[in-house]
Amino acid sequence: MGFVRAMTVPSTAAAVAARFGFTMPLPATGWAAGRAIGADPMPAHVYPATGEPIGAVQICDAAAVDEAVGAARVAFASGAWSRRSVQERIGVLRACAARLRNAGEELAALQMLETGIPFSQAMTGHIPRMAENFEIFADIAATQAGRTFQQVPGYVTHTLRAPVGVAAIFAPWNAPLVLSSMKLAAALAVGCTAVIKPSEYTPFSVLRMVQILEEAGLAPGVVNVVNGPGAITGRALSEHEDVAAIGFIGGTETGKTIMRAAAGRLAKVGLELGGKSANIITASADLEAAVDGSLLAIYTSAGQQCLAGSRIFLERAIAAPFLDRFQARARAIRLGCPLDPSTEMGPIAHPAHLARILDFVAAARAQGAQILAGGERVHAMGPGLWLEPILALAPSNDLTICQEEIFGPFATVQVVETLDEAIARANDSRFGLVGYVWAQDIAAIMRVTDQLETGTVWVNTPLVRDLRAPFGGWKQSGLGRDGREGCIDLFTEEKAVMTPIGPVRMRKLGAP
Ligand code: NAD
Repeated sequence: MGFVRAMTVPSTAAAVAARFGFTMPLPATGWAAGRAIGADPMPAHVYPATGEPIGAVQICDAAAVDEAVGAARVAFASGAWSRRSVQERIGVLRACAARLRNAGEELAALQMLETGIPFSQAMTGHIPRMAENFEIFADIAATQAGRTFQQVPGYVTHTLRAPVGVAAIFAPWNAPLVLSSMKLAAALAVGCTAVIKPSEYTPFSVLRMVQILEEAGLAPGVVNVVNGPGAITGRALSEHEDVAAIGFIGGTETGKTIMRAAAGRLAKVGLELGGKSANIITASADLEAAVDGSLLAIYTSAGQQCLAGSRIFLERAIAAPFLDRFQARARAIRLGCPLDPSTEMGPIAHPAHLARILDFVAAARAQGAQILAGGERVHAMGPGLWLEPILALAPSNDLTICQEEIFGPFATVQVVETLDEAIARANDSRFGLVGYVWAQDIAAIMRVTDQLETGTVWVNTPLVRDLRAPFGGWKQSGLGRDGREGCIDLFTEEKAVMTPIGPVRMRKLGAP
């Protein structure tokens, strides 16, 4: 098929800044009780599309982290948020959503500068989802209720929930606004105050988001930000005695470190971690839909998403036509200026990550995989971090590229003889975040959905989420669930209250 890749040279960061009225360098401090904190800048952060420096993180050390947690603790203890009526809290959450929607272009542009995520994709995906996080958790707050038990004769037992106190929220760099706001909205909805630790690669957008929340009516101190490296700032936050619950989204190894830190004081932990998700194309699949969906599953956000359908399993009967179409379309995906609405794939988010992805290409070749598309850095678009979509045919599921999370535009393909073989290989992974199945045969769909060891299965569709539904990972992809119940469990403590219905006849110890 004669598809040709189109590329547009990216606008400079200075031009983007001028268009959106930003002053360079962009501010990247922490934020506690409504004012900037942090000192000692990290090396400059670059706009991945062009390689230009755009600002440097002012590191929040342990003392600055203590200041931010202290601000959250004082705000919590004051009751200004935690003991506000639910109706008032809902009003503020809705005002936050509206204000964030209004500021959508500014936030999408900041996120684009720090990650390379195309502006139009942020405007249609990330920004509405960020606002919806606040709206949905406002709805959840409105309907939150306890439970009653009446099985013990003469008693009613009812449950109450209280916010845990200060919540620490850790976000990765691949979708900073969407992911930090999801955990934040949940924590706020139940009455917690919070300290957010954005990735050191995305210090700009989350800081601005929190400032906008204060403009919308959140009192200073209710939400605070600490910017800086994970090993300094993140560590100080995860080990802080006054952090009662940690909502962590990030890599599996960091998640284990966070869990160890929380274990020291038995703080509550929810972990949303990495994935190496299987995408099973059965012989009965609608070929066109399977190709469309599989391309989206792995190359959306340049594959830099936990949900990526990075391991494609093809039943032999459909393998040849699928591969023909998939390869041709992957080779034609439009790389380009993240401001250009026709751009389909932006750059890789940061230099170390680009180097890591290229190391996987070398490992793939060394282990006998066949690179069918991509695999080289693209220099035609200047010094930015550009990579073509990669497709590798893997002879075995044991290859590094089939077992490690690459977190880039890197699909592996394995051809299998039967559906059982596909399921067995899909489950042969230390991860278990999501899975995809493409089939028209209902028995095949039911078999895959029943047997995949993952927290989510998508049937004939990619990447759809209902924020109220549970979302999380099996095995090393996580612990706990996002969504309505999981978030409430993480950010509240539950209390059972037993009350007798009538007079209680008690044994009278010591009575004559
Ligand atoms: P990461 O684990 O490197 O960083 C995540 C956060 O933890 C950042 O804020 C970072 O600064 C902080 N951190 C790093 N080291 C730390 C330490 N020693 N102590 C405390 N904090 C520390 O992850 P990343 O590279 O930013 O993001 C990519 C990973 O996130 C991928 O594995 C991806 O699958 C995962 N992810 C998971 C989900 C999900 O919902 N399951 C969603 C998005 C991304």
